[in-house]
Amino acid sequence: MKQLITIMTGILLLTSCGKQQADQEFVYSVDKFADIEILRYKVNHFEDLSLNQKLLIFYLSEAAIEGRDILYDQHHKHNLTIRRMLEAVYQHYDGDRNAEEFRSLETYLKQVWMGSGIHHHYSEEKFKPGFSEEFLSQLIDSVDVSLLPLWDSEDVETFKARIFPVIFDATLYPKRMNQEADVDLILTSANNFYEGVTQSEVEAFYAKMKKWNDPKPVPYGLNSKVVKDGWRVVEKTYKLDGMYGAAIERIVYWLEKAASVAENEQQKAVINSLIAFYQTGDLKQYDEYSILWVQDLESQVDFVNGFTETYTDPLGMKATWESIVNFKDLDATRRTEIISSNAQWFEDHSPIDEQFKKEEVKGVSAKVITAAMLGGDCYPATPIGINLPNSDWIRKDYGSKSVTIENITDAYNKASAGSGFNEEFMWSEEEIERAKEYGSLTGNLHTDLHECLGHGSGKLLPGVSPDALRAYGSPIEEARADLFALYYIADDKMVELGLLPDEEAYKATYYQYIMNGLMTQLTRIQPGKNIEQAHMRNRQLIASWAYEHGLEDKVIELKKRNDKTFVVINDYEELRELFGELLNDIQEIKSTGDFEKAQYLVETYAVQVNQDIHKEVLARYKELNIAPYRGFVNPVYTLVKDSSGEIIDVDISYKENYVDQNLRYSRDYSVLPAYN
Ligand code: ZN
Repeated sequence: MKQLITIMTGILLLTSCGKQQADQEFVYSVDKFADIEILRYKVNHFEDLSLNQKLLIFYLSEAAIEGRDILYDQHHKHNLTIRRMLEAVYQHYDGDRNAEEFRSLETYLKQVWMGSGIHHHYSEEKFKPGFSEEFLSQLIDSVDVSLLPLWDSEDVETFKARIFPVIFDATLYPKRMNQEADVDLILTSANNFYEGVTQSEVEAFYAKMKKWNDPKPVPYGLNSKVVKDGWRVVEKTYKLDGMYGAAIERIVYWLEKAASVAENEQQKAVINSLIAFYQTGDLKQYDEYSILWVQDLESQVDFVNGFTETYTDPLGMKATWESIVNFKDLDATRRTEIISSNAQWFEDHSPIDEQFKKEEVKGVSAKVITAAMLGGDCYPATPIGINLPNSDWIRKDYGSKSVTIENITDAYNKASAGSGFNEEFMWSEEEIERAKEYGSLTGNLHTDLHECLGHGSGKLLPGVSPDALRAYGSPIEEARADLFALYYIADDKMVELGLLPDEEAYKATYYQYIMNGLMTQLTRIQPGKNIEQAHMRNRQLIASWAYEHGLEDKVIELKKRNDKTFVVINDYEELRELFGELLNDIQEIKSTGDFEKAQYLVETYAVQVNQDIHKEVLARYKELNIAPYRGFVNPVYTLVKDSSGEIIDVDISYKENYVDQNLRYSRDYSVLPAYN
């Protein structure tokens, strides 16, 4: 019976017709602590998949969770010990759970889950506990010794002496990854990719291994820890019968099940090739797998699973373990296909000079995906887009898969909508309502127009170098793609193609774009600083250029109410004309390689921050108390069986909270020893 209630709730939340109403019932924000907010994401259209596809997602999801401990250990060698100790005292302490110090311990544990270890996922700095050594010591004494991750024959006091400095001494292991110049990057980084070796020993080790002038190099060092064996430097490889073998065995187990329900032969080959890599640890096999993976474009269900990104290694070789299970969002992908198949119409009607138009233009149809499960280095902190594989020669010879994860972006948008942000910064109820109704849709459509058409439109005149604009090239290029999107999102063609419901919708994007460009994006700039980032420069360029050029006709106004500044747009149609005009100017700059004009536009409109508005915006933003970082909890999948034990469905539920999910993962998916 219980099973059934969950299933019904799942369907209720996901019914697409009553979407507006269902969305309001879905609670996106699940937890808030330190500088973090934890959100839920919704797996739209999961129920429309076939049973086989649902099973494939289920098995790949199990494989995604099984790698969790690998990441903790990669981040720092004491992480698993500390997490297990904290979870033991957190669950079994029977004193006052509302006492301030206990709450601090809870916050610290939540931070450890968020960082997959004792360092912050973004700043890389070690967390500062808000409780004392004495308090933790008492808690440890109050729980059963058998629950603590002690070494064989280690007593509790020795355990404390070993672990407490790691938690409480701020000078010990202060950064997960150090990037400062002039120091040994390996010795000063707390991660666990190297032990007992210096940076120069590691560099010499890999220099010897790499083949000279190899056109197809494997990603050396990707899946191993470097240690000393006596005097020799050696690699401990992550593989089935090597380092992390116990977790890898579980991953392989679920991958084999996934292969048995693969959507097609190509996908089966991809999964089997990944299994072979886990079995051998051979990087040639990894490249073979990557090539098969990047060529699988037919399957609706797709995944990333393995040692993938190298951001946490200061030498950029060692990859952290991660997984995302996903499936193609057919509605959104249909949207990008409609846009792409009309690419020539857009090019022909673009408000730019005929000589700069492409005679033949091809739109790119980007793949939009729905995340179904996040694991390892994608959990709880999650990317909103992925572009893989990382190997340069494979990208050149076989291409890459570039995807946007729309349900994660949506969760961000929906959570922001409930934060009071729009109410604080938007001029009236009209703008707030429009943002609610059309914000997500027009935001995604803007991105599609920007990516699928904007960057690919227009052409350089013969002899003009693509690098002619130098450092101004990227804000100018981003502005060009944005203006293309802004100009067309207001076109009747959008409604005609069924991409927007009516002629009002585009106003949501226009208002948000100008408000962001003139004011609210400044929340991400430190007081007194100017704008450096290319996308931020481009947005201010467009917004402040349009403001200034519409000043006489009051197209855009900055109005004050109760000492607060607001953007007011009086004439949306005129604003569209201004976007077209600036697009024409910027296309000319790009097509002719006019460096001086690019410099003039960027330096005049894009870089300098209006100090008064900046101060005001920062103060108003601070009042809202919005967490700067966000993480996610996963849904829970359960196999549904009939009375004979046959699997008849896979149920999805969104009820699990952040604490319960992490405790469950630690209980059911934790097979690695504390030290590896
Ligand atoms: Zn772009």
